[in-house]
Formats: sequence, C-alpha cells, structure tokens
Amino acid sequence: MGLFSDVEQMGLGEVNVDKIFKEDGKNSHTHIQKAKTEKKEPEKREEDLLFDKSYQCPICDSQFKVKAVRSGNIKMIDQDEILRPIYENHIDPLKYDVVSCPHCGYTTLSRYHKPVTTGQLRTIRQEYCSNFKGIPQEEPCMSYEGSLLRHKLALICAMKRNAKNSEKAYIFLKMAWLLRGEQDELPKDNPKQMELKKEERECIEKAYEGFLSAFSKEPFPMCGMDEISLRYIMAVLAHKIGEREESVRMLAKVLTSKTAPQRLKDKAFDLKEEIKKEVVQEKNAQTS
Ligand SMILES: [Zn+2]
Repeated sequence: MGLFSDVEQMGLGEVNVDKIFKEDGKNSHTHIQKAKTEKKEPEKREEDLLFDKSYQCPICDSQFKVKAVRSGNIKMIDQDEILRPIYENHIDPLKYDVVSCPHCGYTTLSRYHKPVTTGQLRTIRQEYCSNFKGIPQEEPCMSYEGSLLRHKLALICAMKRNAKNSEKAYIFLKMAWLLRGEQDELPKDNPKQMELKKEERECIEKAYEGFLSAFSKEPFPMCGMDEISLRYIMAVLAHKIGEREESVRMLAKVLTSKTAPQRLKDKAFDLKEEIKKEVVQEKNAQTS
C-alpha cells in the first residue's frame, strides 16, 4: 500500500510520489529512532480549545467553516527530534492547520489559503474537483487520520496549481509530524505502528528532497522560515534519512552564521556532536 493509496481509492487519480517536485533530488535510507514524548495528565480538553473559523473557497466560492485552535490557549512545551512542536496537555494543533472546502474538496495548508489564478482555477476544477466525492467531517475533534487525509488532498491541490517546491516540501514535513503524533497516541504494540513509521520516513525523505530543490531557487522567507532556520531543519531531516555529510555541511553553515541566534547554534552543535558519536560507534562496531 502506497502513502497515497487512500486518496487514490477516492478516485482522485494516481499520485506519483517520485514526480512531486519539479526536478529530481536524492533519496536514501536510514533507521528511524523511537519518539520520545512526555506523558502528562490531560487538563484541558481539545474540543474546548476549538472554534469555527470561516473561509470562502477560492475555487467554488462557497462559504464554509473549519475547526481551528485558539492559539492563545495552548502552549508549546518541547520539540521532538524531527522538530515537531509538542504542546501541553497532549493537544496537537498541527492537525487543524489545513483548510478543506467541504463542497469542492479544494484543500491547502491554512497559510496558503489564498486566491488562485484563472489558469489554476480551471485546472483544479477540471482535474480535481470533478473527481471529488466528499470526505467525512471530523467531530468533535480532528483525528490524525482525518488530518493526514486532508494534507494529502492539500498536496494534490498544490501539484494541480503548480505550487512552489517549498510549499509541497512543507506539506510533507507537516505530514511527517502528524504521523509521529499518531504514533505517540497509539499504544506501542499497535500493529499500525510499523506502517506509520514507514510513512513518516517517506514523508521526511520527500520534505528534504523538496526543500533541497527549493533552497537555491526560491526567495526567503520560505514557508515562514528564514534561511538559517531552514538550513537547520534540513540538517535535521538529512541526518534522519542518513545523508550525514549533507547534514554536517548544513550544520557548519548554521554554526558559522553571523545572524543565527545562539539557541539555534547550540542545537546545531548538539546535532553535530551526535553525528560524531555515531561515526565513532560505527567504526568501533566494524573493528570489534
Ligand atoms: Zn470549494
């Protein structure tokens, strides 16, 4: 089963994951470490932090509402090793960062919910909306499955309107975070864990590939990130998929940057040390 088999079964066409970005990048393989999370007793209920946010669809003009999180009420407490923000009380606002029109299916990340060109409108109506048969609404809260499905629709819509590689890469990064969130939510011995881990890995590879091809061609800020922050994110993703040399090269840029905040430099230094340790451990394993 491919990552996009569920949307393909909805009749939205085949998604060729090898052709998502406008040029080829590199793929490679490595293991994925176990997620570390802090378990805390729930205090606030997720549904109490939600409100209905109104949108107008740029494709079919319908007015609709989607659930959104009152950001003032929720605090980020940590980031995991793939930089996924972790929030207090086990609430995950990342699930709500996607806007999907219930009428025509047009879907984007909320930051990309914007007017489209006439050409984009035509292509999306002809090649996407005409095949859209609806998706289940999520009540009272968004599930990881529901959010992932919407992110896949966002990716298809981004492809149909020929969006920048950075936007598509960012959707993959968000999907990797959601897949990690879903793994954390499920019991460790749940049979679905393996599949989610595999999909997370695939999304990290695609995110890295997309950011790599966007990096030298697109202006900053990119997806709301400045150059040095994106370098650090790419170093983390590269390390995760076994592109160790690339990771070290990007970390060096962060460490020698005149503008990088000290906090980011500290994190870059820690990752560089971790990679050094890995190399030593591998050498020792080979000689013993
Ligand atoms: Zn619509």
